[in-house]
Amino acid sequence: MSQAGEPLFPTFVVGSLPRPVWVRELIERRKRGEVSAAAAARVLDDAIPAAIRMQEAAGLDYVSDGEWRRESYVKVFADAVAGFEPDLIAGGRGAAYPAVTQPLRQERAIALDEARFVQRSTTRRTLTAVPSPYTIARRMWSPEHSIAAYATREDFMEACIPIINGELQRLTSLGVDAIQLDDPWLALLVDPDYRARMEIEDVDHEIEMAVQGVNGAVEGVDHPLISVHLCHAHANRQHSTRGPYDLIVRALGRMNVHRFAMEFATPDAGGIEVLAQFPEDKLLGLGAIDHTDINVETPETVVERAEAAMRYVPAERLTLNPDCGFAPSSINPMDLDEAYLKLRALCDGADLLKSRHGGDAA
Ligand SMILES: [Zn+2]
Repeated sequence: MSQAGEPLFPTFVVGSLPRPVWVRELIERRKRGEVSAAAAARVLDDAIPAAIRMQEAAGLDYVSDGEWRRESYVKVFADAVAGFEPDLIAGGRGAAYPAVTQPLRQERAIALDEARFVQRSTTRRTLTAVPSPYTIARRMWSPEHSIAAYATREDFMEACIPIINGELQRLTSLGVDAIQLDDPWLALLVDPDYRARMEIEDVDHEIEMAVQGVNGAVEGVDHPLISVHLCHAHANRQHSTRGPYDLIVRALGRMNVHRFAMEFATPDAGGIEVLAQFPEDKLLGLGAIDHTDINVETPETVVERAEAAMRYVPAERLTLNPDCGFAPSSINPMDLDEAYLKLRALCDGADLLKSRHGGDAA
């Protein structure tokens, strides 16, 4: 990476990993109130080290807790902050999301306990993700349910920013090695069919909201490795949208973060040529594994994908990750062994790249 002496091609997860069926059932039973949060947490404390060991076995440099405690990557915000009512907003494919209905009031930290647990459970570097203000505002505000609490989506996002900023400050104080803001809803904007479905007419305003959301979230946060993750969102191996990032790539340069973890392995991301416009002062987290493809990539495929990206982004600014988390929602039925094999291919590919392009092979 950019720091002198760092090995090239460091490998990251995006965050979530598939859960065994019994863990998915535990999350559902916790949601229905059949298991207390404390009892579920004790079981998850026993289960999550296996998810961490799996990432270590695959060879990853940056590991997470697989987000096994979360019902979803974005609902984790509503779990820690009061003001939401559950399951009011349909999310497609049977998912439902909370809507903000009251002024926000933070009850506890969002991801700090998760981060602390991962930190003490591994000697690898750790990554913790939190949802971005823009994605929270797109996902959990609706005109039908939310206007009494926040007259506009913009007002709601403004209220989210200091909460996310406080969380990033706490994660920084804890010493988390990599912090990530998940902002898939920025990437969704590139698809004209999606914009029509969502009746988005002023896309520049939406992009600006995302930039302001990220910059507000990181303001005053003195951390060396803050990423933003962008993707086309997925469930059941299908993306919600498709298309190249041309519409948003220029805006990335205005975000005060260090790295962008983006989908590029899937054909739905529309090709790698857009990297010609990728900002020159940012690290790229190249999506080199397609989680929607049931076939496990070979390390050579990872090398090919990375070398294609290196036509635009030098090795010193290239990091490797899967396109997305494997199961951003607890109801996503992905296969844990498949995820392991794909992550191992990613890391074996990174070793091949180090032997070809310099940097220490692990
Ligand atoms: Zn994603």
